[in-house]
Amino acid sequence: MLNGSCLCGSIRYEIDGELGQIIKCHCTKCRKASGSAFATNAIVETANFRFVGDQTTLAEFESMPGVIRVFCRQCGSPLLSRRPATPDIIRVRIGTLDSTIAGKPAVHIFVGSKAEWDDINDELPQYAERPVQ
Ligand SMILES: [Zn+2]
Ligand SMILES: [Zn+2]
Repeated sequence: MLNGSCLCGSIRYEIDGELGQIIKCHCTKCRKASGSAFATNAIVETANFRFVGDQTTLAEFESMPGVIRVFCRQCGSPLLSRRPATPDIIRVRIGTLDSTIAGKPAVHIFVGSKAEWDDINDELPQYAERPVQ
């Protein structure tokens, strides 16, 4: 089981099993939401994810129709995004993990909108937008 939490510790979560594919997303919305060059997200089956403890600072923002970003309203940590159209999976912001993991990022997406000041210095596949899955 993996554990994660927000910056202030008010929100904690657990993930059973392994993470799915780890993706670095350079889209403008992930850049805004993270305050950085990209977000690093792992696909997780919704059934394997749960918030634990007090969740009173949990908040949601619909950043575009059908995409809901879940964050801590006290400290601002982005925690995950979910899409009501695909309820079986969520995308967890793995910078919030407290556990160590064996996996590594597999791909860069939305490189077409990446920050011009950020250089990608690895050999992972790059996609201009989201590849068709
Ligand atoms: Zn917090
Ligand atoms: Zn993104």
